[in-house]
Amino acid sequence: MDFGFTPEQETLREEVQGFIAEHVTEELISEIDDFGENTRGPLARELYKEVASRGWIGISWPKEYGGQGGSRIDQYIVEEEFARVGISVGGAGSGAPAILAAGTEEQKKHFLPGLINGEIIFALGFTEPQAGADLAGLQCRAVRDGDHYVINGQKMFTSAAHYATHIYLMARTDPEAPRHRGISIFLVPMDLPGITVRPLWTIQNEPLAPTGTTYGTARTNEVFLEDVRVSSDALLGEENMGWYVGAMGLNLDRVGANRYLISVRRDEDIINWVKENRFESYSPAEEDSVRDRLAELWIEAQVCRLMTMRSMSIVERGGEFTYEGSAEKVWAPEHGVRTTETITQILGPYAQLLQGSEDAVEEGLFAHNVMGSFQSGINHGSVQVMRDQMARRGLGLPRG
Ligand SMILES: Cc1cc2nc3c(=O)[nH]c(=O)nc-3n(C[C@H](O)[C@H](O)[C@H](O)COP(=O)(O)OP(=O)(O)OC[C@H]3O[C@@H](n4cnc5c(N)ncnc54)[C@H](O)[C@@H]3O)c2cc1C
Repeated sequence: MDFGFTPEQETLREEVQGFIAEHVTEELISEIDDFGENTRGPLARELYKEVASRGWIGISWPKEYGGQGGSRIDQYIVEEEFARVGISVGGAGSGAPAILAAGTEEQKKHFLPGLINGEIIFALGFTEPQAGADLAGLQCRAVRDGDHYVINGQKMFTSAAHYATHIYLMARTDPEAPRHRGISIFLVPMDLPGITVRPLWTIQNEPLAPTGTTYGTARTNEVFLEDVRVSSDALLGEENMGWYVGAMGLNLDRVGANRYLISVRRDEDIINWVKENRFESYSPAEEDSVRDRLAELWIEAQVCRLMTMRSMSIVERGGEFTYEGSAEKVWAPEHGVRTTETITQILGPYAQLLQGSEDAVEEGLFAHNVMGSFQSGINHGSVQVMRDQMARRGLGLPRG
């Protein structure tokens, strides 16, 4: 079995690297990393259009909806190179997999080209104050009224809602049905009357995490929906089947270069730091225990990458994709947490100094990553829930 890329794929990677070297400036990165109010400012929008014009966004999506009808692996290569410099270019997390699988022809024709050229951005509206890991307990209600639905409820941790054009919203359409069966998904424009977005600041906001922090988002949101009237065209898939549409979309959205790199960038950062720096009293690079640990982390990172490539390969071949994304979502964030534990051992007390502290290492990058790593095992599906899915779907064990 050959795990390598084809010569054409290596050429694509070089082209993307060349493009990044030319177009991704420090100014652009600091605009994207401006964790405050806006994460897609003018420079980022311009870059996004340039990338799209080269056919690099939605490479694997069908041509009739603006994609290239190409390979998921090619798409991965583009995503990976951009993710390495901290930029997400479509693909996983875009909401597209579920629209492609369950959307109407009109929805595909409207949303996919918009996602490719960057004019449409989704926020994920699943979690509620009383429904996180236990998502099936959600209470947001959508009631049919002629050719509209009227939506009332509250969403929590709705990242990107402050600049998204649409919310990918899960709501209860049949309160009498068993919990998983009375739920539907709506693609709701954010500018409809009755939608209010309020900031929910995270631990990375005060002091603000420095550029390059992985899991450094300083802002997520609460979204309130009061008598929001949305056209019935906004329904994605069949009414009351939203649980299954959402689960499939989330599962596919979990795989990809962004997820993999969020988890391994921290060990790349610490390995590079150790190679180039030393403390007055000791040089970490010369300590056997540090060298051993960093080598172990590197091996774990390769496992993360192989798991991602396996998922890509299954998607590419149109295979059944059930528990593999869950396995990746356990291994990668937990690897990230293990890395931050190692960072605290190498840096000692310096690992606690955040941005703004005089003696902070790398402006507090490592310290902010230590703080941020723990949420990685919770968001986008917690590791406990993922383990349960693997036990059932992967190992064939009964529901716990
Ligand atoms: C920074 C951030 C960004 C987010 N962005 C979004 C977003 O854009 N859109 C969105 O919809 N959601 C988002 N989320 C929400 C995220 O998906 C939820 O936090 C997650 O589902 C857990 O829900 P909860 O916070 O209510 O925790 P809880 O459900 O209270 O769970 C707390 C802990 O208990 C564990 N637990 C709960 N029940 C069980 C059980 N039965 N067995 C074993 N363990 C259990 C969980 O695994 C978890 O570790 C985000 C969260 C964070 C932190």
